[in-house]
Amino acid sequence: MELNENFIEELTNTSSPSGNEIEAQRVWASEMKKYTDNVELDEYGNCIASNYHKNCEYNVVIDAHIDEISYMVSGFSDNYIKVVRNGGVDMFITSGQRAIIHTDTSKIPCVFGSIPIHIHHADKDKTFDKVHELFLDCGCDSEEEIKELGIKIGDYVTMEGDFMKLGKNYYTGKSFDDKVGVFILSEVAKKLKENKINLPYNLHFMSAVQEEVGCNGPLYLSKKIKADVAIVLDVTHDISSDAYTKGKDGYSKCGLGPDITRAACVQNNLRKLIIDTAIKNEIPYQLSASGSYTGTNTDNYALYNGANSALISIPLKYMHSTVETVKKSDIENTIDLLYNVLLNINHKHDFKNKL
Ligand SMILES: [Zn+2]
Repeated sequence: MELNENFIEELTNTSSPSGNEIEAQRVWASEMKKYTDNVELDEYGNCIASNYHKNCEYNVVIDAHIDEISYMVSGFSDNYIKVVRNGGVDMFITSGQRAIIHTDTSKIPCVFGSIPIHIHHADKDKTFDKVHELFLDCGCDSEEEIKELGIKIGDYVTMEGDFMKLGKNYYTGKSFDDKVGVFILSEVAKKLKENKINLPYNLHFMSAVQEEVGCNGPLYLSKKIKADVAIVLDVTHDISSDAYTKGKDGYSKCGLGPDITRAACVQNNLRKLIIDTAIKNEIPYQLSASGSYTGTNTDNYALYNGANSALISIPLKYMHSTVETVKKSDIENTIDLLYNVLLNINHKHDFKNKL
């Protein structure tokens, strides 16, 4: 399978802080227009690319989230800038990194200040594990100068971490959580189009906003689409390195295929259909258990959209860093699995158990 590497590079390099994902949505939408009948944004910025089946009211949504963890400008302290968190950013690994401040009209390069190792002994209390310790430096000598650049409270701050190939088989960069999922949606749409597949239901590819701040995308979507089935693509931890000493049981590993999760809110028969499809098509897969909820958009499709919901996850190393790493074969196998699952669903599926 030949993956569109230029596209995944463009997608992961384009910023999409939770709450302001429009720039990356435009990149994704321009690709999806090639493969689907209709592409639109809702009020909060979810991008929905749909193929409609005539006179059909059965809706299948396949979802991945396009937003990335980020910070926001919260104030000024002389010639430095203070921030608040926007999603699960790891403050330990933030200081000493490059970032971008997104003003209304421009992108301002900046750096998160750090304390040199030589100075540590004099400032022992500083650990950079608290957000009030972090500060941005955009090369200005006064607050006035900062404001002249157009920087305001509320501006988004995204980390820098350009796409890179790692060896022959891995990709690394920022926001593979979950742009790898959004990328897979586009590859599945392309495959359906190339093979001239006409599915017997309405299929919606959903590039969701605001997952990192509360899995909000499906809530906004529920005003527009009542989903019968929702399959969510997200990422899951690979912590196979010896450096992780605790709690390694039950985690998936890069290269062993997509991870299929069981949780109370995952619909049993839809999950079984996904596993059966993997077995029938000889696609490698891994199983995981997350108890009551998955902590992904899956939960909100089940609870607030009334959909039969399931989760497929791509194993990923170093989640919520600027070097998130995924393996190509897992991307390929997830495309293959999702494509075949879509062929196995029909418009009469209700997934109910029989008494
Ligand atoms: Zn995340």
